[in-house]
Parts: sequence; C-alpha cells; structure tokens
Amino acid sequence: MQIGASGGNQIGATIEELMNKAIFIDRDGVINTDKGHVYKSEDFEFIEEIFEICRNYINKGFIVLVITNQAGIAKGIFTESDFLKLTDWMVEQFRNNGVKISKVYYCPHHPDITGPCECRKPNPGMILQAIVEFDLDISRSVLIGDKDTDLEAGRRAGIPEANLHLYKSEN
Ligand SMILES: [Mg+2]
Ligand SMILES: [Zn+2]
Repeated sequence: MQIGASGGNQIGATIEELMNKAIFIDRDGVINTDKGHVYKSEDFEFIEEIFEICRNYINKGFIVLVITNQAGIAKGIFTESDFLKLTDWMVEQFRNNGVKISKVYYCPHHPDITGPCECRKPNPGMILQAIVEFDLDISRSVLIGDKDTDLEAGRRAGIPEANLHLYKSEN
C-alpha cells in the first residue's frame, strides 16, 4: 500500500471543496433603504435588486448570511423581539423571491451603553462565528456592505480584499 504518496493534495482539495462559501450581506442600506432604526415591516423598503444579487450567488454555490448591527436594541428604540419579528418577516420575503437566508447574525449592543463587544462591525465577531457554524472557507467568501465598517469587519475576518464590495444603491 502506498499511503499518502500522492494523496495529500487530493485530500486537501477535497476538504476545501467540501467547505462552504458564503455571501455576507449587511441589512440597512443593502437589503433595505436605510431610514435609521427600522423595526417595523411597514417601514421596511426592500432594495429590489438584492434578490437577484443573492440568487446569482446561490447559483454559484454560495450560502447567504446576513450580518447587521442593531444598536437600536441597546438604545431601547426597539426590542430584540421587535427585531426578531421583523427578521422572520424579512426572511419570508426572501424565500418568496427564491432566496434562502441561512442565518441572520446581529449585534444588539452599543459601546456607550453596553460596553465593547466583539460582534459590532467593524469587529469581525459575527463573521468568525459564521465560519465555525457553517464550516466556511473564508478565502472564497464574499461580503457586501454600504459602509467602510462593514468591509473592515470582513477584512479582519480574512475575506480577501477583492471579495469586499462597497454597495451604493440608487434608492
Ligand atoms: Mg448598512
Ligand atoms: Zn455586539
């Protein structure tokens, strides 16, 4: 038996292929028009092209993950339960448009109120958690955000520079 003579690279390649790749999308300003602290579905205005953007990535084998700072929770502008209710509704709208959202990660903190945390972008905590939970190959993953802090979170988590996209909608 010739064990490992030429198998190393083949096995390595196989493991890499088995790992997932994700498209990380920010919420406010990418999925919906950023009106500041949106927490009701009647105020949630989809930026329609996000559905097609996501479908294109899904067709290329990506899973879709949302990463969003929601300091309105820490500030008491809305509750975590308000946020989760809106999130359920949002995920259903995506489903109706042919997009499966695998998970929505959110940071409910604000440093002035709840102290520093690892999850609030530009910190990479939400992405690092997703890497573990979804066995992601971060070098093949992609991020779309409308702020430099979104891109910085991706950068700190190890997403390649070429895969970090600053999004500006027409809305
Ligand atoms: Mg945003
Ligand atoms: Zn946080």
